[in-house]
Amino acid sequence: MRMSQLYAPTLREVPAEAELRSHQFMLRAGLMRKSTAGVYTYLPLGYRVLQKVKDIVRDEMNKADGQEVLLPILQPAELWQESGRWSDYGDEMFRVKDRHKRDFCLGPTHEEIITALVRSDVRSYKQLPIRLYQVQNKYRDEIRPRFGVIRGREFVMKDLYSFDRDEAGCDESYQAMYEAYKEIFRRCGLDARPVEADSGAIGGDTTHEFMVLSDSGEALIVHCPACGYAANVEKAPCTPPAAAEAETGPAEKVHTPNVGTIDEVCAFLDVQPHQCIKTVIYLADDKPIAALVRGDHTLNELKLQKELGCSQLVMAASRTIEEVTGAAVGFAGPLGLSIPVIADHAAAAAQDAVVGANETDYHSRHVSIERDAQLWRTADLRQCQKGDACPSCGEPLATARGTEVGQVFKLGTKYSEPLGATFLDENGKELPLVMGCYGIGVSRTVAAVIEQHSDADGICWPVSVAPYHVSIVPVSYKDDQQRKTAEELYTSLQNLGIEVVLDDRLERPGVKFKDADLIGFPFRITIGPKSLAEHKVELVERATKAVELVDIALVGSVLQERIKS
Ligand code: ATP
Ligand code: MG
Repeated sequence: MRMSQLYAPTLREVPAEAELRSHQFMLRAGLMRKSTAGVYTYLPLGYRVLQKVKDIVRDEMNKADGQEVLLPILQPAELWQESGRWSDYGDEMFRVKDRHKRDFCLGPTHEEIITALVRSDVRSYKQLPIRLYQVQNKYRDEIRPRFGVIRGREFVMKDLYSFDRDEAGCDESYQAMYEAYKEIFRRCGLDARPVEADSGAIGGDTTHEFMVLSDSGEALIVHCPACGYAANVEKAPCTPPAAAEAETGPAEKVHTPNVGTIDEVCAFLDVQPHQCIKTVIYLADDKPIAALVRGDHTLNELKLQKELGCSQLVMAASRTIEEVTGAAVGFAGPLGLSIPVIADHAAAAAQDAVVGANETDYHSRHVSIERDAQLWRTADLRQCQKGDACPSCGEPLATARGTEVGQVFKLGTKYSEPLGATFLDENGKELPLVMGCYGIGVSRTVAAVIEQHSDADGICWPVSVAPYHVSIVPVSYKDDQQRKTAEELYTSLQNLGIEVVLDDRLERPGVKFKDADLIGFPFRITIGPKSLAEHKVELVERATKAVELVDIALVGSVLQERIKS
């Protein structure tokens, strides 16, 4: 490709809307353009990278016995009503009506469609296992589309669905995908680590997320430097405190005018945050409940929702809080409440604690939670945090931020049962298919690669996903000898199967070098008068900026070697 012809409009300025490096560089290097919030057009360079990631994904899916299909984006509401997700999916679903006022959605995911497909075609255990996948656009009306293609509303996903006859078969499919994912991310040049995750609304129980560690990641993970355990904080279990503290008391009410926050309580009563117990009032399927956690801990709503087994959990509004506690917001406490009180293990074990007194401007102190409060239940309700004991080996946990690039799920029969996707075993017995689903954010992976492979000047593509391997930059394309050398090299490298861009523009060398660095071709060949006199060119490696002089006759073989390794 000739740079003069390449549709790659680079930008010198950092676009105001782009916070993350990957977002900035995807716009600045002319890989993509925004169409509307969370929706992007891929330009030729960006599209080439996207295709290369897809190629790697397809290769590994095929190796793992995946068969590619293409499922419809436009999906009828009826299928989603059968699974119960038409109402559960909520506002993230793009819903449309046809001319007959029938409801459809733009697929945010494809469990329903694929289960309906398989139920109509698969009859016998002899047809199993089946692993079907597609690479296609997904549509999700995200509350906050941001970071470019990292959180888009239209994005490219690879999703594979496995159908097995039993748990053991499903385990095998899961393991095959888990290994394939490790290989895919490795081949893309990503350092992605699998972490235990929460299965959330999609269902099932076993699931891992593949996380690319980066300070800008939206997910928080805990990991154990000692044993390698790693989990999303949403999922990581917290060990209950080992020994009970010594009891104190009795509880006493104190006047705490205008003292509402944990910090204010600590300062006013001279206590530590871990001695303050937060009482949070929720509506669980519209019924009020109170949840207790220590002031130095964070309540994990996913854990609470699971513990309660409710389908909806929302924090109560001020009106409800005032009705339930009889006090202004900020003075809720567990003593004497008439609604069920559920406490995190650590909160339940607290002695000499301070709690709201359910009376405006009053707190109670010297409270022993288990002794003084009528607890309905205690459970693991808090979010794991730095320094907590590793659930696997007990050593202190560390935290890190990450971007999820993929996730693997064991679904069990969550979809096959409601949708009636069954098969007949050897004895003619009808059984539900045991399913798994496995997603990779293909477009998000492109951005994640840039997050891990870039510097102040631009992108440093790993060869495996680079839009082109090498750019040839004559210092002056007007110069006859430089032009001739550049053109000859351009042809000979192409003949060797090397993906090459020739910068044939009549630009100043600085402009051409800047663009090459910004776009991030792994190698650059600079043709200048000095080295040419010795029949040599400069070979520059983008990632390290290492420069070496290479004989013109050897450039092709040297590059072939580098690209291979
Ligand atoms: P997240 O927690 O980031 O919202 P998710 O758990 O909803 O993601 P899945 O349903 O597991 O995502 O989808 C599989 C993969 O698709 C994710 O691992 C992620 O890489 C990608 N993905 C999900 N949502 C988006 C999005 N809005 N934009 C780009 N990629 C996405
Ligand atoms: Mg996920």
